[in-house]
Amino acid sequence: MLKIDSVSTFYGKIEALKGIDIYIKENETVAIIGNNGAGKTTLINTITGMVKPKAGSIFFQDFDITGKSPEFIVKKGIIQVPEGREIFNDLTVRENLELGAYTRFKAEDKDIIEKDMEDIFTLFPFLKKRQNQIAGTLSGGEQQMLAIGRGLMSKPQLMLLDEPSLGLAPLIVKEVFSVVKELKKQGTTFLIVEQNAVSALQNSDRAYILELGKIAMEGDSNSLLNNEKVQECFLGKSVKKGANNV
Ligand code: ATP
Repeated sequence: MLKIDSVSTFYGKIEALKGIDIYIKENETVAIIGNNGAGKTTLINTITGMVKPKAGSIFFQDFDITGKSPEFIVKKGIIQVPEGREIFNDLTVRENLELGAYTRFKAEDKDIIEKDMEDIFTLFPFLKKRQNQIAGTLSGGEQQMLAIGRGLMSKPQLMLLDEPSLGLAPLIVKEVFSVVKELKKQGTTFLIVEQNAVSALQNSDRAYILELGKIAMEGDSNSLLNNEKVQECFLGKSVKKGANNV
């Protein structure tokens, strides 16, 4: 579904991504794990067209999306749920969701968008109850769900989640990943970027480990969870063997 070939991205002279190769198959959940500054956000921003790569190519399905505009890439079916959620704090929950469908407003009947909103409300019943609440007054976990709901309003085929567990209590992180699992069942493909290696590996099919802009390791998530080097560098000693892959 997505193929990233030898992609390098620079900020001035800083090479943040150094010839990265990544692929994602349809309906997979793929995790990118890495410490601060490894290049995770740069990778997501390069895929979504927010940052242009200096070298390499990115294909989404049959389309070459390398260096294309963010609007073009969203319309092709890739949506980003940014780090820190970036919901519109001063708008209501409903208005935030409506904005998620903005790429479709001209093309589609408002009734269809309304029906999609009902689907989001089925997935997140609390959003229906709180649809007129100002989004900035939601808790961190609720804002994360709203951000995912807003992303879903654009009917994406591939969702890029940037640090979905950031700042959330473990129980809420579990809820977020159970939503990911449900959406995967419904056909969505995910790329999840995380510092929280345990959650990422436990809730993905495959993973890549990013170190200083390079892929240091890759494999199926279960194997990585049990890999000694990964355990040493990312997981500490308390991790039990065996993952519950989605
Ligand atoms: P974090 O988890 O802290 O967000 P990250 O893995 O997402 O880290 P990036 O934000 O992609 O890492 O940063 C990768 C490298 O690029 C870092 O060295 C960072 O300082 C640098 N960098 C990121 N954004 C910019 C920018 N706008 N201008 C210059 N350098 C940048």
